[in-house]
Amino acid sequence: MTGTTADRQRLLLLVPTTTYRTEDFMEAARRLEVDLVVASDRPNVMSGEFPDSLLTLPFSDLPATVRAMQDYAARRPLDAVVPVDDLTTVASAAIAGALGLRANPVAAVAATRNKLEMRERLARGGVPSPAFTSFPAGADPRAAARTVSYPCVLKPLGLSASRGVIRADSEAEFAAAFERIGAILASPDVRELGPGADRILVEQFVPGFEVALEGLLTGGALETLALFDKPDPLDGPFFEETIYVAPSRLAADVQDAIRRCSADAARAIGLSDGPVHAELRVGRGEDGRLRASMIEIAARSIGGLCSRTLSFGTGMSLEEIILRHALGWPIASLVRERRAAGVMMIPIPRGGVLEDVQGLEDARAVSGIEDVVVSMHKGQEVVPLPEGSRYLGFIFSRADTPAEAEMALRLAHRRLHFAIR
Ligand code: ADP
Ligand code: CA
Repeated sequence: MTGTTADRQRLLLLVPTTTYRTEDFMEAARRLEVDLVVASDRPNVMSGEFPDSLLTLPFSDLPATVRAMQDYAARRPLDAVVPVDDLTTVASAAIAGALGLRANPVAAVAATRNKLEMRERLARGGVPSPAFTSFPAGADPRAAARTVSYPCVLKPLGLSASRGVIRADSEAEFAAAFERIGAILASPDVRELGPGADRILVEQFVPGFEVALEGLLTGGALETLALFDKPDPLDGPFFEETIYVAPSRLAADVQDAIRRCSADAARAIGLSDGPVHAELRVGRGEDGRLRASMIEIAARSIGGLCSRTLSFGTGMSLEEIILRHALGWPIASLVRERRAAGVMMIPIPRGGVLEDVQGLEDARAVSGIEDVVVSMHKGQEVVPLPEGSRYLGFIFSRADTPAEAEMALRLAHRRLHFAIR
């Protein structure tokens, strides 16, 4: 794609203020040589100098956002709109819909941003997923506790990264979890996110192990880009994401069931175009057979820096695939590289101030380790789950087999020391 600016296609990236994903999307956009327009909801210091390429949009005011981009597109036509992360998926669908560009229906994307609405759509579509109920955040926790069955999982409707997700095995644990989530919902940064802070979702706890499917929807058809195993048990009471490894070591028929469940979930929600990230639990039914159950499906790609584990065809990034797809450009291959790859989201062991990080060089020297990225800076306050929502950093590995990729992550993690005061 070479040529003058005049025949370049124009791509709008919607960048929320808190995301790990901007850099990787910007890098992919640069490779495509498109005319890149970046919008965020806080003014950039450079906006004044580049009024046509650095925009400020009020993402939470959808009509105003759409109007602003319709005016813009009347002067400078857009060819694609891509959200960089969860927080801008709805605005992106609304803009793209108004401009007639490739996009998911707004209502479907909105349903992925509200866990109660997602559960309702999955249930209506007959997609295997946990039984659920919900309570106003102001309800009497003890009274609510008497009406549900155990074990269960309590969670807020609109947060992510397992923030506020708590398992309860008894009425007493339920009441404690309910109050703890209430406090998270009342915190200023959560209130700022807008509606969805007034209810607490309660789901049946689904036993089993967990996988994540990274996929791409085109006209409603789901293509699997990668299937990750999560080899660490996620049994609660908090659900810290740690290791993701691809390709999956599960048997082919179980992988097929996971794919089918994800495609059914996308259909039940109403998603049609663009990336999806689905999280499923796989456990044995009464007949002893493995069954997939949908925990969550999002209209975005994998979070954090985890996409750096993925490479397609002769080296295309996940972000480049997403941008090309939005533009309607050809994609040489959606096949993941042959080698195994893994990532560990480094959990926060306890709260405090991060004073020092040691062992980085030793960790990077472990065979199979490609990179160790610490994304918190010294002096920063670190908050563990369930109140926190960030990681200390990320460890990346590549190896001939998934088992080796996983082992490399564990060895490297053991060499890291985080001094938290
Ligand atoms: P978030 O959007 O914050 O990631 P999720 O609903 O995906 O919230 O829950 C986070 C994690 O909690 C899941 O990946 C899973 O490990 C666990 N979890 C959530 N709901 C259930 C459930 N009903 N049964 C078992 N585990 C669950
Ligand atoms: Ca999740």
